[in-house]
Amino acid sequence: VASPSPAPGQAPVTAAAPRVARSTAEYRVLDAAHHLHPFSDMGTLNRTGSRVITRAEGVYLWDSEGHKIIDGMAGLWCVNVGHARKELAEAAYRQMLELPFYNTFFKTTHPPVIELSALLAEVTPPGFNHFFYCNSGSEGNDTVLRIVYQYWLVKGQPSKKYVISRTNGYHGSTIAGASLGGMGYMHEQMPSKVEHIVHIDQPYWYGNGGDLSPEAFSLNCARQLEAKILELGAENVAAFIGEPFQGAGGVIFPASTYWPEIERICRKYDILLCADEVIGGFGRTGEWFSHEYFGFQPDLLTMAKGLTSGYVPMGAVGLQDHVAAAIIENGEFNHGLTYSGHPVAAAVAVANLRLLREGGIVERVKTDIGPYFQKTLRAALADSPLVGDIAGTGLVAGIQLAQYKGDAQGLGRQRFANGGEVGTICRDFCFENDLVMRATGDRMLLSPPFVITHEEVDELVGKARRAIDLTAQRIG
Ligand code: PLP
Repeated sequence: VASPSPAPGQAPVTAAAPRVARSTAEYRVLDAAHHLHPFSDMGTLNRTGSRVITRAEGVYLWDSEGHKIIDGMAGLWCVNVGHARKELAEAAYRQMLELPFYNTFFKTTHPPVIELSALLAEVTPPGFNHFFYCNSGSEGNDTVLRIVYQYWLVKGQPSKKYVISRTNGYHGSTIAGASLGGMGYMHEQMPSKVEHIVHIDQPYWYGNGGDLSPEAFSLNCARQLEAKILELGAENVAAFIGEPFQGAGGVIFPASTYWPEIERICRKYDILLCADEVIGGFGRTGEWFSHEYFGFQPDLLTMAKGLTSGYVPMGAVGLQDHVAAAIIENGEFNHGLTYSGHPVAAAVAVANLRLLREGGIVERVKTDIGPYFQKTLRAALADSPLVGDIAGTGLVAGIQLAQYKGDAQGLGRQRFANGGEVGTICRDFCFENDLVMRATGDRMLLSPPFVITHEEVDELVGKARRAIDLTAQRIG
């Protein structure tokens, strides 16, 4: 059967997109001339040039010079099903031909967003039956704020405006995301934060716990929430938001005492509890959502990254039934983005979630590859003089570089005065040895794709150990 002739001005749909292959040097010149990178010191970048990533498959990346690099960060904590999965590419391709775009404003909808919403109701914990869509984690947290404000208006308590979050938390880079986040270096570059957002301390025992046990310290940190609510007046406090474990802040895991206390306080004072699951969602800890690992029940859930395994941008907010009911009851909710529930993103998300669930990929993180990764990493680094502590579970880990790791209880532990520099040295050794391991100050972070094999874990961990050893030699 002859294929239909293309519409005027259109190439046949089967034609391969033209590719431009340039030398690394040419790419770097053009990149430096025209591309303003996120979270990068452009002055340095323009001198050294960027690494040009040209291809990826499974847990590996290739750069324009042919290096094969093991991706210990799943892109940016997102490519959970691994790179170059045909199932996701085909879902996008099919959807682009069927319905590349239609909006979900003004009482319209389409099959992919319907399927995705029904599927999210199945994979999220009980009580999450409504989902609002956006394009990123930052927009997700903006949406959380919009929902929180609207919820208290509808409930007839408009004075509830304050939102409490934590220092060194990360909630994105829009104005609201950066305000919710507790990154001072981001706040410094803004004239002011969004009004009515205040912070309490992060539960970072290694750095701030002194002689307290991790459990006692975490409990103290959680109780700061109660003190802050009492200071502001519970009638003025709308919500608390936190990442169940802090990701960009350094993979910081609170002790088991933390979240139950936060939950108790939120319930006592009638404060909405919001879990930012942008990194922890969709299986990173071995549970579908990391708040399940910590054993608490949020009212609102921010999702992005792993929702589509990063193949196309998409974010979402899940609303517990009582929150959804309040928003729905009130009539029009004046919030939305052109691409809320984008059909291609939704189709990819559906394919991704099916793969994670029906392919047993999340289950494997919990029962097989997660425990293997944790055991192998901890065994390999146990005798490293530079490693003070390892936090994490499933396929996420934060490795604390330290000058002195302390005694058997970790008492007397000592961080480097120039921790950020030590982390950067280590990150540079990773780069040279074809490993992506991220540095956040004096913590090295790993978060590989879920499809990593045992042999690839061995390779990843071996390269991480080597980079840490080289760092130890360099700093003497
Ligand atoms: N929330 C958390 C916990 C994140 O880690 C991130 C990004 O890393 C965001 C929100 C922001 O997501 P995005 O970069 O997609 O806007």
